[in-house]
Amino acid sequence: MTVTANTNPENAVIATSERGFDEGVDFIRAVVNEDMRTGKYKGQVVTRFPPEPNGYPHIGHAKSICLNFGIARDYGGICNLRMDDTNPATEDEEYVRALQDAVHWLGFEYGDHMYYASDYFEQLYQFAEQLILDGKAYVDSLNEEEIRTYRGTVKEAGRPSPYRERSVAENLDLFRRMRGGEFPDGAHVLRAKGNMASANMKLRDPLLYRIRHASHYRTGDAWPIYPMYDFAHPLSDAIEGVTHSVCTLEFENNREIYDWLCDNLLEEPRPQQYEFARLNLDYTVMSKRKLLQLVQEKHVRGWDDPRLPTIAGLQRRGVTPEAIRDFCERIGVSKANSRVDLALLDHCIRDNLNTLAPRVMCVLRPLKVVITNYPEGQREELDASFWPRDVPKEGSRPVPFTREIYIEQDDFMEQPPKGFHRLLPGGEVRLRYGYIIKCEEVIKDSTGQVVELRCTYDPSTKGAAPADGRKVKGTIHWVSASAGVGVEIRLYDRLFTVPNPDEVDEGKSFVDYINQASLTVLQGVIEPSVANAQPEERFQFERQGYFVADRVESKPGALVFNRIVELRDSWAKSSQGDEPTAGKAEAPTGRNGKVDKAESAKGEIAKSSEGGKQSKSEARDKIRAQEPALAARLQSYQTELGLGFEDADVLSGDLGLAAFYEAALATHPNAQTVANWTRNEVLRDLKDNDVSSLPFDGTTLGKLVALVDNNTITAAAGKEVFAHLLVDGGDPATIVAQKGLQQVSDPAQLQPIIAQVIAANSAKAAQYRSGKTGLLGFFVGQAMRESGGKANPQLLQDLVRAALDE
Ligand code: ATP
Ligand code: MG
Repeated sequence: MTVTANTNPENAVIATSERGFDEGVDFIRAVVNEDMRTGKYKGQVVTRFPPEPNGYPHIGHAKSICLNFGIARDYGGICNLRMDDTNPATEDEEYVRALQDAVHWLGFEYGDHMYYASDYFEQLYQFAEQLILDGKAYVDSLNEEEIRTYRGTVKEAGRPSPYRERSVAENLDLFRRMRGGEFPDGAHVLRAKGNMASANMKLRDPLLYRIRHASHYRTGDAWPIYPMYDFAHPLSDAIEGVTHSVCTLEFENNREIYDWLCDNLLEEPRPQQYEFARLNLDYTVMSKRKLLQLVQEKHVRGWDDPRLPTIAGLQRRGVTPEAIRDFCERIGVSKANSRVDLALLDHCIRDNLNTLAPRVMCVLRPLKVVITNYPEGQREELDASFWPRDVPKEGSRPVPFTREIYIEQDDFMEQPPKGFHRLLPGGEVRLRYGYIIKCEEVIKDSTGQVVELRCTYDPSTKGAAPADGRKVKGTIHWVSASAGVGVEIRLYDRLFTVPNPDEVDEGKSFVDYINQASLTVLQGVIEPSVANAQPEERFQFERQGYFVADRVESKPGALVFNRIVELRDSWAKSSQGDEPTAGKAEAPTGRNGKVDKAESAKGEIAKSSEGGKQSKSEARDKIRAQEPALAARLQSYQTELGLGFEDADVLSGDLGLAAFYEAALATHPNAQTVANWTRNEVLRDLKDNDVSSLPFDGTTLGKLVALVDNNTITAAAGKEVFAHLLVDGGDPATIVAQKGLQQVSDPAQLQPIIAQVIAANSAKAAQYRSGKTGLLGFFVGQAMRESGGKANPQLLQDLVRAALDE
């Protein structure tokens, strides 16, 4: 039996390409060009995308789709969508639909050219009989294990199976009975007579058919035998008249089987296989088996979870098909396997959304600001452009300004690091499209959290610089409290903490490297112009990134936004020779979307690196660039725990230290005092060692700090306990009891000590009484020493003052 190339006139193409020559085209298009030139396929180009419907397609498939459909488009040819469904065990209609959707969503059409390899089962069977009749295939009755042994090794040639010389008649009889369902699974297989001594192991009598009494999702129980990939694939290509059969590099060694089958069963011109490198993307997995595991074990919310590299996930995250096509074009088609930096994908997404998504303002983590000199009940509409200057689009909307507004929690810092150009006590900042405000008062709740700012605004600064020439560097976004609309915000981070989750430590699985902080859900406030956003509408939230209204769960009135990508373009930076950096916890943007370096938490670091010396802070920054879980902490320690930048920087510079700190915090939830103890005591003693080298853990430190904070012991006694812990470990409360370090808060115990100290320093006491009140500290210190460091310091001071004033 022979098959010739598909000559359906509908498939005819005009053999001209705009490109015309090979310069600047990938190696596969170069081959197509050559075939066009020689007229090998009479000017026809037929490619195919042949997925196995056993999972949802991912961005790796997108690369293959863009390549195969792209070639068909460029040469006026055809690209078939073929379900490579020859394995009954794992295939499903749901996956078929997902594959069809993915091709359409990416902007390609297969029209009538949707095929199923399972439709070719009869034809494939006839090809197999042909090989038997030609003496080129035989039924082997060795079992799986024996077949493996006979096959030999890379160094040793294989041995022929004892069944290899069966007669054509016997082979035909057995094969027909295999098809008739007479034999159980594994009893026989059909093999090609390849070359048992070939250096290419695949050629050592490859298996063509096996017995599987399994129901197929399309052919049901019609077939008890199923063809192997190596047999079905080239012949399906041939049946469809495929000219250029493009697959990934792992099939390089299978090409000899492909050729062997084509040479033995087909006439020229027959299809030809070419291999290219598959796409691997950092911080994610691409194998369908692993994706299935993530979905089944509910590590993600489904196949369309925006953290997955599936097409459905990317679509739900709000990524556009244009961005994916651009990405696939930029990564190119090569023969060398490599991993692609996520930053390139992000760059393509931003590039596309820049001219697509209007700018609006949304506060993700609201902090209330009351503008005390703005009249209650007053409201004015500020004109705000939807587009930055470099986008050739026009359009604006009114943004209401009122007495109460929300700003981003991290746009205010009580103790800001150098170069922080946003709001601080007594400082000024410009509200985007509006006025300059000044922070007059900071209001905190009983736990010390900043809950509100009281500010004044300067009415003369609406869209104008201050008249007196004073400099206000920062501009922040904001939303009116009364006119804004509540929204749910979902922030996504990388799904894995390591760049290559396929390579894991011994005894670990890729799921052990899932980034537990990959999803953050916030309740934000958005400007009212967005209140009626439709599902899949995209926006740039100024300074925060690109967002999309969730296609499944967002409705006008109950908005849910997914962050598609952050604003900062680290790819642009990394492609200029800098190290690629993580997209997290990086510089917020200043006005006009430019990166405001000075505002960046890295401002200090940037400076120190100019001096050529790598500071510790810079080293931590590098670690965070590799470790999104730490980058997230740098942020959350500031925004959620209220730590200053320096504390947050130090504590988020190392996973072990962060875990230690958090364990302490779980025991004693005072973020600041625990941070102080961790930095001042723990780290000072550790020097360059790891926290795991300590004879006590974070929980123990938490217990110790709790004893100090609740006045059971003094800070001085706490340090003594700490010194003890460093040597022997142990339980802080037990150490306190053993050493009798409980704080003394009983005036009756302290007064005699004080009286004694005053009596011993009567001259100084006289000086104090004559007005040298600065001597108070001297007396308190003396009394504290006499108490063995155990006196309640506040009480002691009060008692000393009272005694001196007598
Ligand atoms: P998996 O190993 O995850 O099951 P697969 O390669 O078996 O993936 P198929 O459904 O057989 O998946 O693939 C369909 C087509 O897509 C094939 O031509 C395959 O080579 C291609 N493809 C799959 N993954 C990638 C990838 N990461 N990059 C490029 N092409 C890919
Ligand atoms: Mg496969």
